[in-house]
Amino acid sequence: AVPVIAIDGPTASGKGTVAQRVANALGWAVLDSGALYRLTALACIDQGVAPDDESGAAKIAAGLDVRFVDGCIFMAGQDVTEAIRAENVGLFASQIAALGRVREALLGRQRAFRQLPGLVADGRDMGTVVFPDAPLKVFLVADVHARAQRRCKQLIEKGFPANLADLTRDLEARDARDQSRANAPLAAAPDAVTLDSSQLSIEETVNAVLDLWSN
Ligand code: C5P
Repeated sequence: AVPVIAIDGPTASGKGTVAQRVANALGWAVLDSGALYRLTALACIDQGVAPDDESGAAKIAAGLDVRFVDGCIFMAGQDVTEAIRAENVGLFASQIAALGRVREALLGRQRAFRQLPGLVADGRDMGTVVFPDAPLKVFLVADVHARAQRRCKQLIEKGFPANLADLTRDLEARDARDQSRANAPLAAAPDAVTLDSSQLSIEETVNAVLDLWSN
């Protein structure tokens, strides 16, 4: 089977950057599964679909016209790479991610990223639901303050407004929602290795994952 490294964990734990760098180091493909939830959210917002409209959101998820090209994301031909990173889109994404039919609609799309020589998949349920046979599963955590600081820096760099107290509150709300939802709640797979990056640089975290893979 095509090897998969599943990297799951709470929001702003550094998964995205770590997954991308691990994929680069190995020459593998990368799946940013959160982007699919964010794309669905952005399309719902644009089309006036409410975050609790399960059939409306599932229909949008199933019909997403999206292309990933060299680190850019296009939806219906439009470059939405930056737009999907906005905080309101992330919050909307975490609401529709609680809907079973939305998760189901995105399943095949995620599995299609599995290709030789390998895939690094970043998300919440990569090791538990999407790629349960992944030979390496990493559960990447960091304390909420470290994560709020990282997210704050990230947003400011992208030119979005950011406030540390608001972000900390949003992260806690999103963690609670991700952990308590009925469908694919955020949890480490039983065979996952938990890695705490609170005190680690990105490079140290990437090296820790690569060490786990080669050992
Ligand atoms: O990782 P990111 O912050 O981009 O994900 C946005 C939202 O999508 C998360 O808050 C989470 O609720 C949801 N998500 C999910 N399952 C995934 C990836 C993301 O439920 N595999």
